[in-house]
Amino acid sequence: MESSKKAIEIANKYNFIYATVGVSPNDIENLSKNYIIELQKMANNNKVVAIGEIGLDYYWNKENKEEQKQKFIEQIKLANSLNLPIVIHTREAVQDTIDILKNKIECKQKGVFHCCPLNIELVKEALKLGFNISFAGPVTFKNSKNANEVIKIIPLERMLIETDSPYLSPEPLRGTRNDSRNIKYIAQKIADVKEMPVEKIASITYENAKKIFKL
Ligand SMILES: [Zn+2]
Repeated sequence: MESSKKAIEIANKYNFIYATVGVSPNDIENLSKNYIIELQKMANNNKVVAIGEIGLDYYWNKENKEEQKQKFIEQIKLANSLNLPIVIHTREAVQDTIDILKNKIECKQKGVFHCCPLNIELVKEALKLGFNISFAGPVTFKNSKNANEVIKIIPLERMLIETDSPYLSPEPLRGTRNDSRNIKYIAQKIADVKEMPVEKIASITYENAKKIFKL
């Protein structure tokens, strides 16, 4: 809730910055009962373009899976009521994430799998369900097994790029603090695999973001 408020403050200060609001699966402890109402109030700000990050994270938290699912679904309902897309965080929770989006609740405006795990099954299901796939630093890591294959199966009009700053700096800067300047390395990696000029990847992903978040 605190970082959502901060994101809006920053977005209101700069016209080229937009915000999302939401509670990540790693922050659901001690959440107030009316957090949905508070999020809804924040989402009324016209710089807020999505509900997120929301989702499931069994890497950091295995003890509260049911609660994570419940909060994920509650926030998808909120996004639906506001007609906003969602930004999904999923880590070591592929099956349950797909199950929710496929069988438990329909997401009206879809949205994006942020920093998408390089899991072929997840990516295929996400595309089938109408979601977009966003790549961060891991796609450039030398030990990322499926990176090239995953990039190949995603149509360009369904692809986004991101930093996930301050985490996950791409090669060749892996291990340093990440920021938006490094986005070019992710674009370059995709350009190499798709055998296209990097400028083309930059402009397509830019247009995709404008369309998905209605910027
Ligand atoms: Zn995340």
